[in-house]
Amino acid sequence: MNKNYCPSLTEYKRRKTRVVNIGGVPMGGDYPIRVQSMTTVDTMDTIGSVEQCIRMIEAGCEYIRITAPSIKEAENLKHIKEELRRRGYSVPLVADIHFTPNAAEVAARIVEKVRVNPGNYADKKKFELIEYNDETYQAELNRIRDRFVPLVRICKEHGTAMRIGTNHGSLSDRILSRYGDTPLGMVESALEFIRICEAEGYYDLVISMKASNTQVMVQAYRLLVQKLDEEELQPYPLHLGVTEAGEAEDGRIKSAVGIGTLLEDGLGDTVRVSLTEAPEAEAPVAKALIDRYTNRAEQADPIKPICNVPIDPFQYHRRETIETENLGGQNVPRVIADLSRLTDVQYADLKCVGHLYSMLLDKFNMNDLGADYIYTGDNPINFMLPNGLKEIVNYSSWLKSERSEHKHPLLSAEQYLANTARDHKLNFILATISELTSQLLDQLKTDGTAVLVLQTSNAHAMPELRKCFFRLMNNGVQVPCIIKRAYGELTSDEIQLYASTDVGGLLIDGLGDGVMLSTELLPEQEKSEWLQMIDSLNKLSFGILQAARTRMSKTEYISCPSCGRTLFDLQETTAMIRKRTDHLKGVKIGIMGCIVNGPGEMADADYGYVGVGKDKIALYRGQTVIKKSVPADRAVDELIELIREDNRWTEPVILED
Ligand code: SF4
Repeated sequence: MNKNYCPSLTEYKRRKTRVVNIGGVPMGGDYPIRVQSMTTVDTMDTIGSVEQCIRMIEAGCEYIRITAPSIKEAENLKHIKEELRRRGYSVPLVADIHFTPNAAEVAARIVEKVRVNPGNYADKKKFELIEYNDETYQAELNRIRDRFVPLVRICKEHGTAMRIGTNHGSLSDRILSRYGDTPLGMVESALEFIRICEAEGYYDLVISMKASNTQVMVQAYRLLVQKLDEEELQPYPLHLGVTEAGEAEDGRIKSAVGIGTLLEDGLGDTVRVSLTEAPEAEAPVAKALIDRYTNRAEQADPIKPICNVPIDPFQYHRRETIETENLGGQNVPRVIADLSRLTDVQYADLKCVGHLYSMLLDKFNMNDLGADYIYTGDNPINFMLPNGLKEIVNYSSWLKSERSEHKHPLLSAEQYLANTARDHKLNFILATISELTSQLLDQLKTDGTAVLVLQTSNAHAMPELRKCFFRLMNNGVQVPCIIKRAYGELTSDEIQLYASTDVGGLLIDGLGDGVMLSTELLPEQEKSEWLQMIDSLNKLSFGILQAARTRMSKTEYISCPSCGRTLFDLQETTAMIRKRTDHLKGVKIGIMGCIVNGPGEMADADYGYVGVGKDKIALYRGQTVIKKSVPADRAVDELIELIREDNRWTEPVILED
């Protein structure tokens, strides 16, 4: 199998792409990776749109996308553009088109770029599974060509660029019937349109493969690159994004897992982070993700190239491991919280790792984000830990402490190879890439008690750790592995994005049986500050596992970022739904601003809450509409009723503290 999808799996190198001129801001080639976002104000509100554009430009946006659902909005782009230029802003504008070729044809004469969705440009989504034979499939392609070529010619004539933006949630019936709901289907959906463009001699294209499922999204982009090369099509620039990532911390983590994983491998020429927040909040997140790579090639320690890639980068398979206690095998990846900088841990302190002590009942309760292990280094805990929580201590401290079922040693590779006393059940071995010697690998192969804790200090961290996993796999070593990352003096926002990329980028490929995040704060930190930091790293660890779809510990909200089509206040509604449902572990709820794209965009959701008109909501079970028009003030109750009917509702439990 051809597994090539990026210039290098070990060295940071950007994929060489074609330069596409978009207004005065070219994309691709050696140009910087660009930041962009989309307005949420009604496109007919010229001044409102202009003012929002200015806020977005000031936040770092280099392109601005504006929805054009019909001809009248497409025409109004002219007024928005004129007003922006009059105020001295030359930012290139992008018209966002769904279903309306005539609006696209108007917009392409006005703005610098149009975005079309190949799943709905010339197709009406029917939500029916239709069988196509070769003849009917070709007839559909001919129909699409006839519909699409006029736009291509207008773009060519006016020097307008185009994004062919595939969305996992809105593939056409034709693509679904032949390829299913797969990364290959997403790629083929774009290729059909790219082939038409190239046949017309038009190459000013940018391509995207967005999905809300980060695994699907990453696989689709990789496969796209591989197929473009295989068919000898042009190396078009890539627009990266995770659709409907959600809000706040979850949205940022999910975006970093998907987008960061691709950036690590040098893929991506522009980034749009979609958050259910004001669009000016998106650009700084995109910029922080991109900026990490500005000096990556110079900062990284060299990693030797990989000869044999033992994973399939286009499909998820978890690395096969032996089950060691509750690690590896079929167990969900575990969370290890690092408490090693705390001395004198008290019962109440364990609240920061999700284990809440009730003085009244004299017992612990665990919330959904209860860590599985705590690492206490040389400061072992001197009381009995709550049920289910285990402790890892440094080897020297373990030797000195009383043996316990719940306390396990962390050994250096050297201590491990010295064959000294060990725990009879579970031993953690800390190793870097240079310590994965053949002697260590041989010993690990026959040890049913060993769990590796892989760490690196290389700036090109994810690829180095990935290489460690490849070495284990190529040598038949099946011990479970924890991914350990320690961050220096970074802001908590930076740690959130970097850890999501470093750890998520491995989990997405099925690598990793646990995560351990640490920070190296200044020694004079107050205990309360340490507890706060441990609390946020613990939540971050669970968030990354969820975003990479490897362990579901909370309700997942797939909420659209909102745009000029949105029929209700997305942020307020999401907060209201979250308040009532955030205890429903693993349930996925789509919250979509409009019926035009909403149902398609929430492909992955179990339930959908979709705006259909002023104060009217449609409720979905999966992709099926159950209630077509519920008054907004009753819609959350009815949504809960629907979840209850499916026996997926539980009453929230208030944990005592
Ligand atoms: S689903 Fe949301 S972002 Fe997408 S078109 Fe509708 S309102 Fe706009």
